[in-house]
Amino acid sequence: MTRKLYYTDSHLFDFTARVLSCEEKKGRWDIILDETAFFPEGGGQSADTGTLSGVKVLDVQEKGDVIVHTCDGPLEVDSTADGHVDRELRLCRMQNHSGEHVFSGTAHRLYGCENVGFHMGDGDLTIDFDRELSEEEILRIETESNEAVRENLPIKATFPSKEELGRLEYRSKKELQGDVRIVEIPGVDRCACCAPHVSRTGEIGLIKVLNFERHRGGVRLVLACGMWAIRDYREKQNSVAEISVLLSAKRNEVAGAVQRLLQERDALKEKNAALAMELVSCKAAQQQETEGNICLFEAIPDEIAVRELVNLLMEKCGGIAAVFFPGADGGTRYIIGSRHVDLRKVTRDLNAGIGGRGGGRPEMIQGSASAPEEQIRSFILGFQA
Ligand SMILES: [Zn+2]
Repeated sequence: MTRKLYYTDSHLFDFTARVLSCEEKKGRWDIILDETAFFPEGGGQSADTGTLSGVKVLDVQEKGDVIVHTCDGPLEVDSTADGHVDRELRLCRMQNHSGEHVFSGTAHRLYGCENVGFHMGDGDLTIDFDRELSEEEILRIETESNEAVRENLPIKATFPSKEELGRLEYRSKKELQGDVRIVEIPGVDRCACCAPHVSRTGEIGLIKVLNFERHRGGVRLVLACGMWAIRDYREKQNSVAEISVLLSAKRNEVAGAVQRLLQERDALKEKNAALAMELVSCKAAQQQETEGNICLFEAIPDEIAVRELVNLLMEKCGGIAAVFFPGADGGTRYIIGSRHVDLRKVTRDLNAGIGGRGGGRPEMIQGSASAPEEQIRSFILGFQA
């Protein structure tokens, strides 16, 4: 049985322990110690990382009574291992796990929410509650959680006896067997939990909701606490600062500035479309009427306007009216129309002549063309259905 040092001292990062066994498995070594400060994966939290006498700890799992450290090198059995837990990562995870308890306990107290899912990622954590919450309710939970941080309450872990446990009310995700570890924050939360926690709520730092959405009849929230909340704050502040410079707007007024920009863009789009329509009616007016075909290359990057041009040109020719224009991908696009030829019947011939791909209706087809301009021009002008 491995003694779990993280149960008695969550702030122990450097320790020595005796190596009880070391077994190789596919180039990795499973090492068991008589005691360890490495927290194994469990309860929604990933395993601690770090080193044991210079070898890297890649994974830590609880198997029955023992904690197995999977390492990238061997250690001699019976030797003393020098353990170092990755301090920064563990502290961040403790800030976030303790923050989750404060938040879930507060949600339970205020609105009777049960926590039915918990996962800690790299930089944030996800909580699922079994009932829906309004934005107002979520803000209240967030505020009261941060008030609990401000009160700097103690966080205590105990193993109550069966009788004591029977009398206690506590949050738990499942029926628990064996010794039950209870993590308590007075007046805020009492929850069965195996993870290491910070000593007082003040150590958590900021508790911030980043996102929430409806999820399976309840709500799924994303939170960041402590240093992860600071990291998130920094990223968002940088992003707002950048937008504020780009739009020459005060930082707290960027949303309005973006809205104005979008309105300006929409107005320009409308203006652009109107100009393109005017341009195509001029182009069409310049075109001589002909019994044959029409072939134009136009730098109009607007498909709606080109379609309108083809519609106007169809009235001016006895054959087909073809307009070639630049596509968004830098290639050449075409729209071909006719009042006199069933284009669907000649699509294959037309595409063959212009190195094209495409199709459409009997009176109008469209697609892309890859042949050189001069080849396309002489093919279209000479084309007979
Ligand atoms: Zn927990």
